[in-house]
Parts: sequence; C-alpha cells; structure tokens
Amino acid sequence: MIRDKYQIERRYINKRQNVRPGTRLVSGTPGFLVAHDTGNPGATADNHFDYFQKLINRSASAHTFIDDNKILEIIPAGTGPDPAEKAWHVLYNVTLDNKLYGDDANDIALGVELCYGGQINTLEAYKRYVWYLAFCCDKWGLNPLTHIPSHKQLDPTRKRDVDQALATAGKTLKDLFYDVVAEIEEQPVMISPPAAVQLPANVAQVLIDDYVSPAWFAAQKVGDQVAKTHLHNLANNLRLAARIPLQVGAAAAPFTQLPKSNVQELVFRWLSPGWFAAKQKGDKTATAYFNNTANHLRRAAGMPTE
Ligand SMILES: [Zn+2]
Repeated sequence: MIRDKYQIERRYINKRQNVRPGTRLVSGTPGFLVAHDTGNPGATADNHFDYFQKLINRSASAHTFIDDNKILEIIPAGTGPDPAEKAWHVLYNVTLDNKLYGDDANDIALGVELCYGGQINTLEAYKRYVWYLAFCCDKWGLNPLTHIPSHKQLDPTRKRDVDQALATAGKTLKDLFYDVVAEIEEQPVMISPPAAVQLPANVAQVLIDDYVSPAWFAAQKVGDQVAKTHLHNLANNLRLAARIPLQVGAAAAPFTQLPKSNVQELVFRWLSPGWFAAKQKGDKTATAYFNNTANHLRRAAGMPTE
C-alpha cells in the first residue's frame, strides 16, 4: 500500500441534523464501506461540498467525494485526526446491511462517492476512488471482497450506484474489488544504490602513478598549494578505497568508500580523454582498459557501472 500516493482533503460541512448530525459512528472506526456514485454526472467533489453545505429540505449525505482532481471528506471519516461521524447514505429500512454486517450502514459505515461523467475524467477519478477504498481497508483491516458493498447491492430496488458510474469507465463492481486488493498489495519501488566494493590495489596504484602523482608534481612546480593538497587527498582516497596503507609498513585501514566526486574527476580529467584517444586509434585493448578502470572506480563509490 502506497499511503502517500494521493492526498486526502478534509473540509467539513457545518453540523446540522439533516446532513451532519455530528455524532460518532457507533462502531468507533468504520466497519464497512458503501460504494456510491453521485448519480449526478459532471458534478465535482467541490460541487457536492457546496450542495450539502446548503441542503436543508431533506436528510442525505456521505463522507467522501472523489473526482479526477481530489479526494474530499466533507464529514469526518476517521482517516485523519478526526474520529468518524455518521452520515445519511443508506436508508434505515434497508435490511441487508444489518444482516451482513450486524448494523445499519449509517451507524457503522462510510459512504464513499465516485464523481463521474461530464467534464470529469472518470478513469482518473476511479484511480483515486480505488486508492481511497484501499487506504480505508488497509487502515481498519477490512476485506475489500466482502466489506465494500455497493449501494445497489444493499438497496437493489431503488439504487443503481456505484455500478452505473463504473460502467461509464468500462469497469464492473468485481473489477473494483480486485483493483482495491491490488492497490493494497502495491509496494513502493525502492531503488537502492549498489553497495560499494573495494577498489583493486593495482587499479588504484596505476591511477596514482600515471595521473595523480604527475599532476601533483606539476602543481608543485608552479607552487599551486591548493591543487597539491587536493591531489594528495585524491591519492589517499584511492589508497583507502583499495586498502593500501597510507604509510609504508602501516596496517591496512578498513575499506573506505571512494567519494563520487573523485570518480567524476578521475573519469573527466583522465579516463575519458584516454578512452577517446584510444578509440580514434582503434585500440580496443586500451578502450576496454579505460572502461574497466572507470567501472572499478564507480563500484568503489557505490555508483552504477556503465
Ligand atoms: Zn448511493
């Protein structure tokens, strides 16, 4: 489950008996989730906030409205810091909810509404809808295959949601259940860098002898103290990565990962120009040498090889 794939926006309508009585679900946390659609093609989550904020002449509401742009909780659902409250989204005289889940949907379930049709990209809305249902199932240990009844399943003589909205996106209720299962099982892709490995001693020594030392002597000749210190450190970093003792007769230090900036410098200043020169001469042994040496350095720095 990728918990931060989408954001949940919480913007609650005012408490009023006919839409948001302000009382907690009797189950504490939600016991199941009812899959609704708005039955109002083209109307967005924000449109429904406005509608229920102003509704006065009848009892109706739901917790969450999901379109192609946002997941909006207009009544606390318990996904965040605010405990889940009741909403009026399934008639009390419907009996299947009591039979299946032991209580009325309004008292123990969330009503989750899919916005669809019109200017709404229903497939994008569906993705957010699936993720939100998965988030809730994962949070409260609900089985998506048994604990997300559609409104139509609970009240088949009166209702056609959420199936009618799913159909407009080419989906069935069964697709929804299995897409929620897959969403719960989805894991974030972790790209871990390769572990750094010791630089072969001969590779380190050849680089020091062929490039770093001559550059140090050139810097000495012109009195460039900054370059001398830098090249001294560069040589020592190569020795540490190859576990060559820094002083004659001393014990080898533990492997120390080569700084990536050192790899970039060695490749840019010496190995790349060497490779290009060898390539122009058609010297395949030399191009392979430069390639292999660069990759030894990358491995010693925990960088991917090329
Ligand atoms: Zn409904």
